[in-house]
Amino acid sequence: MPQPSSVLERRHREITASFESFVQRELVPLAAEVPEPVDGPPRELRDYVRRRSATLGFYGAEYPESMGGAGMPVTALVQLHHAAGASGCPLAPYALAGPDGPSWLLTHGTARQIEEYLVPMVRGEKLRCLAMTEPGSGSDSFAMSTKARWDGDGWVLNGRKTFVSNAGHADYAIVVADVTDGPTGHGGATAFVMPLDHPGLRRGQQYAGMAGEPLFELVLDEARLPMAAVVGESEGIGSAVEYAMDSLAYGRLLVAAQCNGIAEFALREAVGFARERRAFGQVIGGYQHVQEHLVTGRAGVETAKLLTLACAELVDEGLESGENAALAKLVATEVAVDVVDRALQVHGATGYVRGHPLEYLYRHIRMMTIIEGTSEVQKVIIARSMGLG
Ligand SMILES: Cc1cc2nc3c(=O)[nH]c(=O)nc-3n(C[C@H](O)[C@H](O)[C@H](O)COP(=O)(O)OP(=O)(O)OC[C@H]3O[C@@H](n4cnc5c(N)ncnc54)[C@H](O)[C@@H]3O)c2cc1C
Repeated sequence: MPQPSSVLERRHREITASFESFVQRELVPLAAEVPEPVDGPPRELRDYVRRRSATLGFYGAEYPESMGGAGMPVTALVQLHHAAGASGCPLAPYALAGPDGPSWLLTHGTARQIEEYLVPMVRGEKLRCLAMTEPGSGSDSFAMSTKARWDGDGWVLNGRKTFVSNAGHADYAIVVADVTDGPTGHGGATAFVMPLDHPGLRRGQQYAGMAGEPLFELVLDEARLPMAAVVGESEGIGSAVEYAMDSLAYGRLLVAAQCNGIAEFALREAVGFARERRAFGQVIGGYQHVQEHLVTGRAGVETAKLLTLACAELVDEGLESGENAALAKLVATEVAVDVVDRALQVHGATGYVRGHPLEYLYRHIRMMTIIEGTSEVQKVIIARSMGLG
């Protein structure tokens, strides 16, 4: 029996099936060879997966053809991210451009920046990290204290960024700093791109998260940069706020799609377990309390999928201004946290032990209601769109 969301998935079924086949054929056997390391798969393996996926046309496919991508619409992209999560394969997310991949901030860059930084990332050859959050500004990330001053000869950056993903292995950093006295007259939050081994930029404290790779502090101490380091269509002019706003709906939908996929995987595992596991003389799936977990989970996943897929259509049509993506991100992440929790509960101790996929997902999924804007921040956006606050 087809699910309602499959109606919205028909158009891009072929490319999604092709990605699913790549994951099953190549990534699942590879993942089986590596025991789950504490901080994600080894770098060489991730590099291989990314480059192989780029060769096959999946990684970075959403970027314009002129930048090395395939101009894939968001409606197709969310289906690939969903498929990666739903596969349960720990390597599948690395086959798609995520938070260490090419950046929409850079699509606003000069022709030279696109050639030098963005194109190698779309090809899967280079990685970057994005340094926005600071010890004193998280949700209000543009209330930053990192400053960029022009000293007549170049930019000088000073400040401290924190909780930066991928800084352990990225080639470049996109650092957002506050320009107070730029030579071109522009000011405010501005994105700079620089190699991670640039003098004056160093990794500070490392934080182990609940799951996956560590997060890093990045310290800028009199880091000197040329005028051309400002990400902007014209050299030296760029507004990080404007660029970030342009890509917000996009990033939030990808998180929503990943969450829907993970929740679908967790639910599938739980339903399979509930059909087999016996207690008190019958399969546990026959008990209403267990059914409640599974049916509530299914209702949540299907709702979140419909919202995500419909919102992706609006983005492709240029009709999305942010509030629907906030709604999709809010619902999908909260549902996924709930569904993974319920799926683990249905498994009892079997799902709790290290090595079981649900034990890992229970830790991994928790970050989703925090990254790309917390659930509370999504609610603020939605409330504003309703004329409140
Ligand atoms: C796994 C992970 C990866 C990350 N990767 C990166 C990265 O690569 N680069 C980067 O720059 N940052 C990164 N971050 C940081 C992330 O962007 C911030 O954690 C996030 O923006 C929230 O900021 P905060 O943690 O300082 O919480 P705060 O902003 O201090 O919020 C604390 C609490 O207050 C609530 N709150 C805040 N403002 C409001 C409001 N107006 N109304 C209601 N409630 C509110 C929040 O929802 C939250 O519950 C990462 C974080 C995690 C967990």
